[in-house]
Amino acid sequence: MTIFNFAAGPAVLPHEVLEQARAELLDWHGTGMSVMEMSHRGKEFMSIAAQTEADLRELMNIPPNYKTLFLQGGATLQFSMIPLNLLRGKLSADYVNTGIWSKKAIDEAKKFCNVNEVASSADRNFSYAPEFKSWKLDKDAAFVHYTPNETIGGVEFGWVPDTGKVPLVADMSSNILSRPYDVTQFGLIYAGAQKNIGPAGLTLVIVRDDLVGHADPRLPTMMNYKTHADNDSMYNTPPTYGMYMAGLVFQWLKKNGGVAQMEQVNIAKAKLLYDMIDASNGFYHCPVNKPDRSRMNVPFTTRDAARDADFLKQAEARGLLQLKGHKLAGGMRASIYNAMPLAGVQALADFMGEFARRKG
Ligand SMILES: *Cc1c(COP(=O)(O)O)cnc(C)c1O
Repeated sequence: MTIFNFAAGPAVLPHEVLEQARAELLDWHGTGMSVMEMSHRGKEFMSIAAQTEADLRELMNIPPNYKTLFLQGGATLQFSMIPLNLLRGKLSADYVNTGIWSKKAIDEAKKFCNVNEVASSADRNFSYAPEFKSWKLDKDAAFVHYTPNETIGGVEFGWVPDTGKVPLVADMSSNILSRPYDVTQFGLIYAGAQKNIGPAGLTLVIVRDDLVGHADPRLPTMMNYKTHADNDSMYNTPPTYGMYMAGLVFQWLKKNGGVAQMEQVNIAKAKLLYDMIDASNGFYHCPVNKPDRSRMNVPFTTRDAARDADFLKQAEARGLLQLKGHKLAGGMRASIYNAMPLAGVQALADFMGEFARRKG
C-alpha cells in the first residue's frame, strides 16, 4: 500500500531525497564517512554547508545584504531572539494576531517590550487574515511581526504588507519555499525546518544585515544574531545533518523547477481539497475565509466528532496518515507541503468523496 503522510510537522520529505540520504548514509562521496561523523570545520562539511547556503540563496533570490543563518532552538526560540535583537533601543513592537502561533510570538515578546496588537482576527475565531488597511501600525515600532501561514488555523496571507521603513518580520515556518516571496520586503524571515525544509533541529533565519549587531551585550552569545552572522553559522557546532538534508531538499527543489513551479503545484494540490470540501453540500466544513485559505494546511471537519473519528480511522486504513487536527482545533488537517505529491492529495480527495457518499 502506498503511504501518504499528511503530518503538520515534522512532515513528509521528498522520497528521492530520503533515497539519496540512504545511499550516502555510510559513505558520503567516497570519503568513507557519514555526514553525521564529519567535523563541521572539515573541508567536506564546509563544502556541504556552502552549497546548501548557495542553493537557498538562489531559490529565494536572497540579496547580498541579507545573512542566512542556520540555527537551532526552533521557530520558538526566535520568538525571543527577535525582540532581543531587533528592538535596537526602541520600546515597542507591532504584532498581528491571527492565531495560535502569532499568539505565542506575542506572549514571548511581551517579556521584552510593549507589544501593540495592531490587527487581530480574534473576533471571528481566527478564521481570516485582517485587511491591511485595518492595521493600526505605529511608525516608531521597532518592527512589525506577522505569521504568513497559521499552521494550525489554516489561514494564509496571499499578500505581503508594506510596512514602509519599519522592518517586517515573518514566521514562515510552514510556507517558506512554497510560493515566491520578494525577500527585500522583509527585515527578517524565520522558519523551523521540519515543515517545508528538512528534519527538525534546524532553524533558518534570513536577516537584513543592518538589523544585526544592535543587541544588548549582556545577551547570551548564542542568542545574538551577530555571533552567527560573523561566524557563518559555525560559532559552535551547527546542526550538521539537518543542514545536509536541507541541502538535498534545496537541490530537489531546483531540479523540480524551483519555487515558482512549486507554487503552481501547490495551488493545484490545495484546489483539489477545497473543491472537494465546497462541492460536498456542507458534509465537509472548512472554517477559513475563502480568500485566506492556506495552500499548506487544510483544516476541515464533518461537523460531528464521532464521524471525524471514523473518517480518520478509515483514512489510516487506506494509508492516508496523520490527518488528525491539532488538539486545539479538532477535526482533520491535511498538511500538503512541497514534498507531498499531487498523487497523495488526489488519493485523499478521492477518499473524501467516497466517505461523503457513504455517510452523507
Ligand atoms: C511549527 C511552527 C512553529 C514552532 O516551531 P518549532 O520549530 O517547533 O519551535 C512556529 N511557528 C509556526 C508558524 C509553526 O508552524
